[in-house]
Amino acid sequence: MSEVSTLTPQERHAIEIAAREVIAYRESLADADVPPELRPDAFAPRIPAVLAEEGAPPDEVIADLVADVGPGLGGLSSPRFFGYVLGSSMPVGIAADMLVSGWGQNVGSSWETPGVFVMERTVCKWCVDMLGLPAESAVGIVTGATVANTQGIMAARNALLRRQGWDVEDKGLFGAPEFPVLIGADAHSAPFAGLRYAGLGAGRAIRVATDDQGRIRPEAMAEALAGIDAPPLVVLQAGQINTGAFDRFAELIPMIHAKGGWVHVDGAFGLWLAAVPELAPRLAGVAEADSWAVDLHKWLNAPFDAGLCIVRDRAALIASMSARGAYLPTTLDAVEPTDTTLELSRRARGVPSYAILRALGQSGVRALIARHCALADRLAARLAAEPGIRILSEIASNQVSVAIGEGEEGDRLTRAVLARVQARGRVYPSHGEWRGRDIIRCSIIGYAMTTAEIDLLGDEIIAAARAERDRAA
Ligand SMILES: *Cc1c(COP(=O)(O)O)cnc(C)c1O
Repeated sequence: MSEVSTLTPQERHAIEIAAREVIAYRESLADADVPPELRPDAFAPRIPAVLAEEGAPPDEVIADLVADVGPGLGGLSSPRFFGYVLGSSMPVGIAADMLVSGWGQNVGSSWETPGVFVMERTVCKWCVDMLGLPAESAVGIVTGATVANTQGIMAARNALLRRQGWDVEDKGLFGAPEFPVLIGADAHSAPFAGLRYAGLGAGRAIRVATDDQGRIRPEAMAEALAGIDAPPLVVLQAGQINTGAFDRFAELIPMIHAKGGWVHVDGAFGLWLAAVPELAPRLAGVAEADSWAVDLHKWLNAPFDAGLCIVRDRAALIASMSARGAYLPTTLDAVEPTDTTLELSRRARGVPSYAILRALGQSGVRALIARHCALADRLAARLAAEPGIRILSEIASNQVSVAIGEGEEGDRLTRAVLARVQARGRVYPSHGEWRGRDIIRCSIIGYAMTTAEIDLLGDEIIAAARAERDRAA
């Protein structure tokens, strides 16, 4: 400790309390129930409704914060949390994220923050390499796949309109030539949000019919393409949230390119299968697309929030993202991080992924993805063997959709079984709907999930289904 310090003893103490709490919290996940102890109504009274006139010492604030928030923390990082599609913040990434906060780098400028700038640039390169995407792509490190999809759509908008002689960055969309947007009927809500944010309209998009796995039907795509004039933006999907399935890129992308179209792929979680040689054939041809959205905080288990927007046409991404306006970089080599994201000021949110990738190595990444896919097969096989339980799709990656019974009565049973499992709190799958059925959706994506957690999930669902059936009988 030097004699002069920018930290007071209480500030130092505050940071130490936080570091100790992070360790204690993560260790508590081993056997804690997954749902939060208190819901908002019970939890809110613990927090002062009116800000006190006087401040408080930093270490006291942090100690109070730890005590007050505790009962309101949900076990999203638990290896027994199977809801939605969430990663669970790998500890090495958490450690790096704490450093990112401590360093306080605004990574907008390579000149002023070269350390984190180079680390982030490296993360982008490593990910593009592992995913087998074009090395020349421009990459933006964003908060997640919603923004990554939006940015990819904005880059497409720039390029498709430029090819029609219209500079959308300068002239905007009023009076612009039109281009059609095509998207699969079972796309995630995120690209629809991206279409709205980009001024292209969610309702205006042509929804292309899908098969029973949620994959676009190639003949429906061919028909849709035959009916349009201008080169379209087409949004494809790598990883459907209910089935984990992939659009047939090798068949679809050449059709779309033959029309002069731009293909954007929402690959929030599923794109990671491209990093695993034995699984990559499931998304063969995906690298032929023009832009991709992929999360770091899902399958890579980076702490929230981080994702990548990857665009083959560097100029299109930079032209649509750069906040420099008239000062657009004259060479594409002089690109700064702010030129590839919507943000101007930005934390170095790529650095935790640098640490995670270093810790896993390429073999570790491949093993993580492959293990989760194998665990999804195991869970599906186990549940399908139980009378009255159905798995609603083939298992294409890590998502398992479960329905109990048949018809309306089956939907009621499914909801009751899910409520029972969630209330017990040992494991936590979430609700969904698929092909007119209420479902229990299980996402196998947390870095610490093993056969033990998967078998417990199977046990819990089966026990709840039997209990509900007995109750009904
Ligand atoms: C999660 C998800 C998104 C949205 O990603 P965020 O990181 O939550 O913004 C988009 N598409 C798919 C397929 C997803 O699973």
